[in-house]
Amino acid sequence: MHNHLKRILTLVLAVALIVSFVACNTVNTKSVTSAASGLSFKPGTYTATAEGHGGTMTVQVTFSEKAIVSVKVQQQAETAGLGDQALQKIAEEIVQGQTLAVDAVSGATDSSEALLSAVADCVRQAGGDPAALQEKKSAVSAEKVERLSADVVVVGAGASGVSAAVAAADEGAKVILLEKTDIIGGASNLSWAANFFNTSVALEKGMKGDLNKTVADWIAANHWRVDAAAVRQYFSESGATYDWLAKRGYTTTFFVMGNSPLYLLPPYETRQDLLKNMLANSVEKRGGQVITRANAQKLLTDKNGNVTGVVAVRPDGSSLEVSAKAVIIATGGYAGNAEMVKQYSGFQGPLGGLSQNVGDGLKMAWAVGAEVPRNIGIQMVHQTLTNATPKLKKQFSPFEASYPLMLCYLPNFMNVGPNGARFRDESAVLAADPAAITSVYNGTYHLVIVSKSQLEMLESKGMSVLNIPRLPAMPPEFYADYKAQFTLENPWKGAEKVLEAMVANGDGYKGNTPAELAKNAGIDVETFTQEFKNYEEATKTGLDGDFGKDSKYLLPMGKGPYYAIVAVVNNLGSVGGLTVNKKFQVLNQQRVPIKGLYAVGLEAEGTLFSDAYTGMGDGLGYAFTSGRLGGTYAAKAVLKK
Ligand SMILES: Cc1cc2nc3c(=O)[nH]c(=O)nc-3n(C[C@H](O)[C@H](O)[C@H](O)COP(=O)(O)OP(=O)(O)OC[C@H]3O[C@@H](n4cnc5c(N)ncnc54)[C@H](O)[C@@H]3O)c2cc1C
Repeated sequence: MHNHLKRILTLVLAVALIVSFVACNTVNTKSVTSAASGLSFKPGTYTATAEGHGGTMTVQVTFSEKAIVSVKVQQQAETAGLGDQALQKIAEEIVQGQTLAVDAVSGATDSSEALLSAVADCVRQAGGDPAALQEKKSAVSAEKVERLSADVVVVGAGASGVSAAVAAADEGAKVILLEKTDIIGGASNLSWAANFFNTSVALEKGMKGDLNKTVADWIAANHWRVDAAAVRQYFSESGATYDWLAKRGYTTTFFVMGNSPLYLLPPYETRQDLLKNMLANSVEKRGGQVITRANAQKLLTDKNGNVTGVVAVRPDGSSLEVSAKAVIIATGGYAGNAEMVKQYSGFQGPLGGLSQNVGDGLKMAWAVGAEVPRNIGIQMVHQTLTNATPKLKKQFSPFEASYPLMLCYLPNFMNVGPNGARFRDESAVLAADPAAITSVYNGTYHLVIVSKSQLEMLESKGMSVLNIPRLPAMPPEFYADYKAQFTLENPWKGAEKVLEAMVANGDGYKGNTPAELAKNAGIDVETFTQEFKNYEEATKTGLDGDFGKDSKYLLPMGKGPYYAIVAVVNNLGSVGGLTVNKKFQVLNQQRVPIKGLYAVGLEAEGTLFSDAYTGMGDGLGYAFTSGRLGGTYAAKAVLKK
């Protein structure tokens, strides 16, 4: 079964690298490096291939006029855990440093050199000068230190950091916002909908939630192992965040999901500009600055241990030192750091979040005495993926290529874990949290079993035969390219052919009998055949004695051959890592605030959960709300209001 792990690790990288390491036009940097002279391009995205250690890699590089915006490795076959990690490191260094003068990673020289040569090829295609970018930077930059000062410095420009910066500026503070990449908005740019409790619009529509009950249910669902004050503060305050954002032009749209109101974020393509406008109208208008490509690495403290500022590294190697009376950490956690994720949570699946969130903010805060909370390992595991889809997309239409993926989101198909046994009522897949958490709890991957008879039903009548209440709950971006075909009635033409191709591509298994399928999939034959027998019996009697699945989802197995789809779950972000009080001050081991240090967003969100993220829209609801409140408290403290 180790092949699964290898594939999953390859996918981790593919997904991780698809999140760009970015660069841009810059602010405040007077230093001109020799490498910078190669920075003139025809904007666009260019593709090149190169031979790595394990085979051909395909690399896509996006350029603006003056910068390498992102380096994405779209396909690679490098050694899992070594070559793949080298690629990630080098891609990051290229974008952060705007240079090709990057040292190969020792032990992964072939992989490193292949990536550098493919990027050089893209630079050439974009009309740039690879030779200029290959020149070593002048040593002068590394010694250069730029010094700035502010009342409040915010580190990280995701939803929480932008909100904190705007709120602090609105209180009258001079704010400097530092962001590692050149993108404003962080993970909110990729997200779907937020939860705000009892907003003005929900109240107008007569949908008033019961605050006491909601808070009590939340706390009980988290086994009382939460900061009850923080939970209550979140629910009491998030409604006001909706109006606060709308007033500043970031309008979210009310809709109802199940019985709960949720708030759709503005259209993807407008979000960044809306957040930039918010910053322009508050932070910048009041004399503050937004500084991108500033990678904060260290907190400054005085002799009493109070935080007095932060040091960031610029792409040319120079330093930016910002002294401030308050520092707000909003760096979005550590999910981009595979080692930390493994260490704190054991999760080794793919990353679906931001690869630049590698735990910088947490490490800086821990280094000045912040508490490492007991629930540091929480991950926002969320979306189910299958390794099969990327390859199938090259062979079939987007809708057809997604048959295996859609099967992973449907409640009618038998799911088994790496031990060959069923592990849940498969209707858990109708909602994101139960789907992801039950899968991850059970192992690194799970298998979705489908028979030829079942495929034939789908081939003739589509998902209308499945008695499902609605379309599979996949994130909208998964079906964006086949939205018109994504209906319950649309027949799944050629489904068997697609599953055959999946097996031929090495991304799934087939067997004429359950025993043969188990053997080919490398799972325990005895366990699987018994489980299969039990499940088949349940589909005949309508009684699932093992998990109690609703009989309407017990689709008969019928005849073989049988297929197994390898399904994995991805991680959108780590949750928590710093303990904060209701003013969002970071606490030390004794639960005493570290003067001058605040945290908001994912870094502080562990206060709401016990050991698993079970929110619906709460990632965003909390990011905006904690940012708004944390920024306000920090500014008030600094301005002694
Ligand atoms: C694909 C995806 C879909 C999601 N969908 C939803 C959804 O529908 N609903 C929901 O509620 N939640 C969703 N989430 C979660 C939600 O987006 C996050 O919980 C929330 O946006 C986190 O905000 P943040 O400000 O804490 O962190 P982030 O948005 O991660 O922002 C952190 C920022 O800090 C920057 N940074 C990191 N290190 C440094 C450093 N050393 N120096 C300077 N800057 C640094 C990063 O570049 C980034 O811009 C989703 C997440 C993902 C990835």
